[in-house]
Amino acid sequence: MADYFRENVTGMAAYIPGEQPKPGSQIIKLNSNENPYPPSPAVLEVLRNFNSESLRRYPNAYGEDFRQAASEALNVPSDWIIVGNGSDELLSVVMRACTEPGRKVAYPIPTYVLYQTLTQVQSAELVEIPYGENYELPIAQLIATNPAIAFIATPNSPSGHVVPINELRKLASNLSGVLVIDEAYVDFAQENALELVKEFENVIVIRTLSKGYSLAGLRLGFAIANPKLLSGLYKVKDSYNIDAIAIAVGAAAIRDQTYKNACVAKIKASRVQTAIAFKQLGFRVWDSQANFLLVQPPKANAEYLYQKLKEQEILVRYFQQARLDDKLRITIGTNEENEILINALANLVKVSVR
Ligand SMILES: *Cc1c(COP(=O)(O)O)cnc(C)c1O
Repeated sequence: MADYFRENVTGMAAYIPGEQPKPGSQIIKLNSNENPYPPSPAVLEVLRNFNSESLRRYPNAYGEDFRQAASEALNVPSDWIIVGNGSDELLSVVMRACTEPGRKVAYPIPTYVLYQTLTQVQSAELVEIPYGENYELPIAQLIATNPAIAFIATPNSPSGHVVPINELRKLASNLSGVLVIDEAYVDFAQENALELVKEFENVIVIRTLSKGYSLAGLRLGFAIANPKLLSGLYKVKDSYNIDAIAIAVGAAAIRDQTYKNACVAKIKASRVQTAIAFKQLGFRVWDSQANFLLVQPPKANAEYLYQKLKEQEILVRYFQQARLDDKLRITIGTNEENEILINALANLVKVSVR
C-alpha cells in the first residue's frame, strides 16, 4: 500500500488493548481491570427512562449535568472539571494541547502504555525513566528532563503502587510543564492527590468511571484542574465529545457513592484474600492499591501460565516487555472467579514443576 501516513505514524507500533471476548461468552475476564460488579441500579433507572427524543439534538458540549454531579461528589467547583470520552480522550487532549515535535514527554516506566502511543502520534520527544527496584519515583531525573508533560499513574498500572503525595508535590513545584496525575484506580486506593490541583496550576488529576463505577463500556472520564489550565484544553477537545446518554448515566452513577463504595469494599476484601492465595502458591505479589495484582510465578514462566489459563477460558494480562515478561497482571474478579483462577493456577504450577 502507498504510504499515506506521517513518518512517525508509519514507524510506530499500535496500542494493543486487552482482549475483549464476545458478550455472553463464559470467559472469566481478568485482563482489563473492569469491575466485576454491575453498575449502580440508578444507571438502569436512567436508561429505562431515557427519552430518545432528546437524541435528536446535540448534547451539552461541557457535559453540564455530569459536571454538576461530579462537582457535588468531589466537592470541587464545576468549572474546575472537564469531561471526556473516557479518560483516554482527556490524556489525548492534554497531549494535543501541550506537545509538538521538539517538546518532551516524560514518565516513569513500567506504566500505562498509552502514554507512549500518544507521544509518538504527536512526534513529541519521548523520555521514559525506569522506576527504582521497589518502584521509587525517579524524581530527580523527571525534573532534570524538564518535560512539557510528565505523566504519573497512581495507583500505577501494572504495579498497583501509589506514589506518595509529597513526591507528587515536589515534582509539581519543580516542573515548568504540566503534571498529569492519572487516578484511574483511585477508588481502590487509600489516598488521592486531588488537593494538589488547588496548590499548583500546572497539575491536572484525571479520573474515570470505567473502573470504580463499573462503566468501562460507557466511555466517560473527567479531569480536575485550575480553570486556567482547562481553558487551553477546551480549545483542543471535540465540541461534542461526550454523548447525551453518557452524561445522564454518568451523573446518576457518580451521585450513587454509597453503591460504588460498597462494590469497592468487596473488591478490596477480595484483593487481600487473593494476594494471600497467590503467596501460598509461591508467587511473589506486589502490594496493590488498585483492583488488580501484579504477580510473579515461582518457577513456571508467566507466558506459559497466561497461555494455559487462556485455554481454560481465563483471561489475564501478559506484557511482553522488559521487567514485566516474567509477571502477570490479574484483575480482582468476584470471589467465585478468583477461586476458579487460583485453583487453575494451583494445578498448573504443580504440573510445570515436574
Ligand atoms: C483504564 C485506564 C485508563 C483509561 O480509562 P478510560 O476512562 O476507560 O479511558 C487510563 N489510565 C490508566 C492508568 C488506566 O489503567
